Amino acid sequence: MSYFSIDKVNKQFEDFTALNNISLEVQQGEFIALLGPSGCGKSTLLRILAGLEPPTSGRIMIDGKDVTKVSPADRHISMVFQSYALFPHLSVKENIQFGLKARSIKKSERDARLKDVLELVSLTSQQDKLPSQLSGGRCQRVALARAVVSKHPICLMDEPLSNLDAKLRAEMRTEIRELQKSLGLTLIYVTHDQVEAMSMADRIVLLNKGEIQQLGTPQQLYSQPQNAFTARFIGSPAMNVFVLPEQTELIGVRPENIRISDEGLMGRVIHTDYHGDSTLLKVSLLNDSKVLIKVDRWQQFDKNQVIYINWKQSDQHKFCAKNETIITHSVTL
Ligand code: ATP
Repeated sequence: MSYFSIDKVNKQFEDFTALNNISLEVQQGEFIALLGPSGCGKSTLLRILAGLEPPTSGRIMIDGKDVTKVSPADRHISMVFQSYALFPHLSVKENIQFGLKARSIKKSERDARLKDVLELVSLTSQQDKLPSQLSGGRCQRVALARAVVSKHPICLMDEPLSNLDAKLRAEMRTEIRELQKSLGLTLIYVTHDQVEAMSMADRIVLLNKGEIQQLGTPQQLYSQPQNAFTARFIGSPAMNVFVLPEQTELIGVRPENIRISDEGLMGRVIHTDYHGDSTLLKVSLLNDSKVLIKVDRWQQFDKNQVIYINWKQSDQHKFCAKNETIITHSVTL
């Protein structure tokens, strides 16, 4: 039996449907990423799980109990927000202990937990500082520590890394993942960044316009997209989805799987983008479809150069042109 379940949840804001029939079973200790573009309903779903927003219909179950109408405090869930949400006038240790005091946990227990958690997030030497004296990365660690110290088994995170620079984000991704695994936390993590979701989550729920587009492991979403939306969302850069000359179906091939050769489809290079480790070519086909191709960094191409491209049949996906759902996958996991 699953530990945490979302059962046919709908959310209406007047006549606008923010979430449509969302169901999800989460296992204990699982890391689930809620992924999707801005406005797809990720934060609304997280707020419903936290109890900050009621669903219009549907149920939330935790450990076999219906908590749909239970208040946030009684759900035993911790939260970490993008904005850190720290009290500016309280020190690091006071911020971390604040929730424990509110729950009337004994001082000796509070101090023991504080010591452990400060070590866990490497903030022991910073415990008397105010948030304004800390970098963004350290503030986010305080917010993580505050969630962990509560010892709630479920943690919800809403874009916790989006205020940090790229290098720090990459470091914190690893830290959060390790913390989650070592503590056995069940974690629901909202992000619009597919790299974050792919590199951290056990499973990803990809949302668009309030509906689940695909639910699966990062490998499943990458190798076996169920529709063109997933194909176009996952991967950096994402999959090319295009129409071949004189065909109607949509073809999906990843930029890294297209080869340049002496024969194949003719195309014209319209842009080159140097990335250090590789170069991305934007190529226009005869029917004006555009494809991206990832080539080795040492390969040089001129604008307007004519090239020929092909790919292995086993790297190709086919989608229905009408409803954009998958017809065939050649790709194995
Ligand atoms: P972002 O990454 O931009 O925060 P999101 O995927 O988290 O996007 P939500 O914040 O869940 O999206 O919003 C989903 C949709 O519901 C949006 O179109 C938003 O405008 C709408 N919405 C959210 N809250 C309300 C509200 N209180 N009243 C009316 N509409 C709302």
